[in-house]
Amino acid sequence: MADTGTLCLVENEGNGRMCTTVPPVHVALMGLEKVVETLEDIPPLYRLLCGSATGQRITTYFNMITGPRKKEERDGPIEVHLIILDNGRSKILADPQLQETLRCIRCGTCLNHCPVYTRIGGHAYESTYPGPIGTILMPQLEGLNKKGALVTASSLCNACEEVCPVMIPIPGLIRRMRNEHYDMDKKGVLNGRGTQKNILETLVWKAWKYTCTIPVLNKIQLRLMGISNRFIPEIGPLKAWTTVRAKPVFSKKSLKDLVKEEGIRHE
Ligand code: SF4
Repeated sequence: MADTGTLCLVENEGNGRMCTTVPPVHVALMGLEKVVETLEDIPPLYRLLCGSATGQRITTYFNMITGPRKKEERDGPIEVHLIILDNGRSKILADPQLQETLRCIRCGTCLNHCPVYTRIGGHAYESTYPGPIGTILMPQLEGLNKKGALVTASSLCNACEEVCPVMIPIPGLIRRMRNEHYDMDKKGVLNGRGTQKNILETLVWKAWKYTCTIPVLNKIQLRLMGISNRFIPEIGPLKAWTTVRAKPVFSKKSLKDLVKEEGIRHE
């Protein structure tokens, strides 16, 4: 809380209170996005945090620490130090879209609703912050070159955005980061932009675009897909996928052919 320099600790266990009271020196670390202006800013955030994190109206303990113990007090640290970390956050703040990430109050509700997180668990992210918020925050803090793989860990189902109490547009930010991961020319503040750019993949997507937009190529593509069914498991790298999963079965006839056969008129 900027106007009084008060630190707020939200907890249910009491260990936060103990370890800030017993030692003679208290060193607190926080990211710069955790500063609010006045006491009036605390209740709405506290209410959102408790309700979204654990479904409580208030937590068992809520500690407000404003400096070291005073002369007449019997407990509390003799010294209190506060370290405010930037660590790339001011760069994030300067970007009008990415700065929305800094609204996060770490309630964890996006994790509980994420179909990816609930299946793979937190350790799979190999990051301080897992789940949807980790997916967007870690590449911003450490760069797409180190944590870019996280932006693929999403089905883009939008559940995280729907439940987030501070309405962070997580899927939109994931899409932007996926884009920047592959596109070196795009302007942005993220480190490691374009590290996934790969000529072969670019060519595949270009070919896909043409076969889907030029009718004659589309027709040839559909025919080839129809007759390729029995070859799919034998095709080199695809074998790794199809030996453990059901292979896609492409129809031998396109919808257009079937419609024609049925004698249905179409434009
Ligand atoms: S992104 Fe939203 S839902 Fe997820 S932890 Fe942060 S505040 Fe909670």
